[in-house]
Amino acid sequence: MSKQPKELLKTVFGYDEFRPLQEEIINRTLEGNDSFVLMPTGGGKSMCFQIPALCMDGITIVVSPLISLMKDQVQALKSNGIKADFFNSSISPEEENAVIDRAMKGELQLLYLSPEKLISVSNTWLRELNIKLVAVDEAHCVSMWGHDFRPEYTQLKNFRNSLPEVPFMALTATADKSARKDIEQQLGLRKSKLFISSFDRKNLSIEVKGMVPKKQKLQEIKRFIKSKKGEGGIIYCLSRKNTEEVSAYLEVEGLSVAHYHAGMNAEDREEVQTKFINDDIKIIVATIAFGMGIDKPNVRWVIHYNLPKNLEGYYQEIGRAGRDGLPSDTILYYNMADFLMYSKFADNGANSGMQKEKLNRMLQFAEAKSCRRKILLSYFGEHLTEDCGNCDVCSNPPTNFDGTVLAQKALSTVVRLKEKEGIGMVVNVLRGSQNAEIHAKGYAGVKTYGIAKETSFYDWRDYMVQLANQGALEILYSENSSLKMTEIGWKIVKGEKKIQMTRPVQLKDKETLKKKKPVKIISSNEVNNDLFEDLRKLRSTIAKEENVPAYIVFGDKTLKEMAAELPTTENEFLAISGVGMNKMEQFGEEFMEVIRKYKNEKQSNPKTKKVPTTLTTFYFYKQGFTPDQIAEKRDLQLMTVYSHLSQLYSEGKEVNLAKFVTPEIIKKVKVAFDKNERKFELKPIFEALDEEVPYHEIRIALALILRDE
Ligand code: ADP
Ligand code: ZN
Repeated sequence: MSKQPKELLKTVFGYDEFRPLQEEIINRTLEGNDSFVLMPTGGGKSMCFQIPALCMDGITIVVSPLISLMKDQVQALKSNGIKADFFNSSISPEEENAVIDRAMKGELQLLYLSPEKLISVSNTWLRELNIKLVAVDEAHCVSMWGHDFRPEYTQLKNFRNSLPEVPFMALTATADKSARKDIEQQLGLRKSKLFISSFDRKNLSIEVKGMVPKKQKLQEIKRFIKSKKGEGGIIYCLSRKNTEEVSAYLEVEGLSVAHYHAGMNAEDREEVQTKFINDDIKIIVATIAFGMGIDKPNVRWVIHYNLPKNLEGYYQEIGRAGRDGLPSDTILYYNMADFLMYSKFADNGANSGMQKEKLNRMLQFAEAKSCRRKILLSYFGEHLTEDCGNCDVCSNPPTNFDGTVLAQKALSTVVRLKEKEGIGMVVNVLRGSQNAEIHAKGYAGVKTYGIAKETSFYDWRDYMVQLANQGALEILYSENSSLKMTEIGWKIVKGEKKIQMTRPVQLKDKETLKKKKPVKIISSNEVNNDLFEDLRKLRSTIAKEENVPAYIVFGDKTLKEMAAELPTTENEFLAISGVGMNKMEQFGEEFMEVIRKYKNEKQSNPKTKKVPTTLTTFYFYKQGFTPDQIAEKRDLQLMTVYSHLSQLYSEGKEVNLAKFVTPEIIKKVKVAFDKNERKFELKPIFEALDEEVPYHEIRIALALILRDE
């Protein structure tokens, strides 16, 4: 053995420390023993066989069913100067012969094969190779208990038996207890040791939003994506039609987006996928058909447009975000209609009982009012002792209160509307709304009309859902989602039963929620964003020249660290995580040149630092940039930019504020403002206007009202 694992980790891959378990697995393998590696996606499984492959002088065979992944991994290895190649049905006979030739000559350290290829050549030239290790990736495919059974895998046992002295390693991200046993048996592993690392992906934030109407959902998603400033992600939808709709909506908004589903032809799918991997398309709206063969490390967010079928699928899908370990966001939208539809599917399908049980667990997770990560991990058999601090519930712990009176008001309204109406109408009656339908139906005469004006529409809707979840009401989807009383509901109305409810998260808090990120990214210095952008551009140019995905050159994490630490010598550059010798030699000079230039510019023109932030906004405004563009340029919330503009206006600066609101809105805000004793507070006005006027418009209207008086 020529080199030590730790040394290889640094010189070849550019990393300083092994992750938990990696070193143990590597050592065990070098001692010639079998291992079973169970780690989450992005956990660093590949390193467990790649380092031994480099330590030993022979060849390591890697079996993988995913052709596109194979190519990516081999590219990544080559970029680090490792002699690797792959071999599957997608390459030509000439290429195939060239690879065989290199393998036979002992010029390859790693050879990736699909299982069917392996089987077909296992008795020919493969026998001649000096095989030192065999790694079986996606090992769950060998088990019928898994969710992705592949018959070719079952023949691997023969191969295993033909190499009794060679260590085997099985790797997967999904396998429950029964599947694990099965995999060991099917592959013929010998005295293998099981290594399970934590499945907690701390860098993923988790947020769940229930019962958001479609139009609002689309708007929220649009706003969310725009706030991400060109960082890419995936939106998962239930149906093919949905993917096309949502994608079209976002495209109209000028976003870089494409849809993906199994109904498209193979070429189109391939094209979309490649563009996404290369960052040429930022957003994919897809059915769950998308993602299996993708190893993109810088997916920054994943949104579920509908409720997933089970927690396994959900966790796997959100797991595609943040493989590089940087903070990434996940949002799940769900409503009862999704749930009911799946229930119906499940009724007709095989294994109905289990599917329904899984679906119920999914719903329970979505409706939970305690730390979501705890629930999720406990489902996978891992028990966190503390709340995570990076989910919506942790960021906004619900407060309980005795909701009996509130429930009585709501339930008696349901009764008085003869159990014919849905949530919207019931809430409108409770709030004494003046709409035409209420008058037409004579609901204004109902006894509970207007008895709960003080609670906002959105809060009411949340309470109604809580009532349904607690079994006090039933939502009959087959009858226009009308609300029906239940036994529990009647008990509450009659005062025979009390009910606890939780306060809905306040919108104001939601806006700040995203900012509380406990996950630490870069240790010491701040990332210089301008420089990061320049480095990204350079990376993209190089990637195009070399015809590889951008992340193969350097990952986002590595670029961020460069933009923080500003390395300009070879030693400094090598100290950056993710820079090995090979990449240092290939790309070091080009990247350092950009960093040097940045440093020089910064020194020669020490920015007059203390320009007030509002004036910087004003400067851009005068140059003709829209608030959206200013927010993006300055990395500010849109709301902040509007605040700046309003303040500038109040100070007498020339800002055409009136352009951003309609006269009707100004009128409405003025009425609410006067009612609130002309206190300069946005929230009461927001609520008084049924939460229909966005905060920024209220802010602007107030500036106009105050200056023009
Ligand atoms: P998996 O195969 O488990 O999904 P990968 O092997 O692709 O995960 O690893 C995910 C990312 O983590 C890769 O970018 C890899 O280079 C990186 N990585 C692996 N081990 C380490 C380590 N010890 N230190 C830093 N980064 C690592
Ligand atoms: Zn939590």
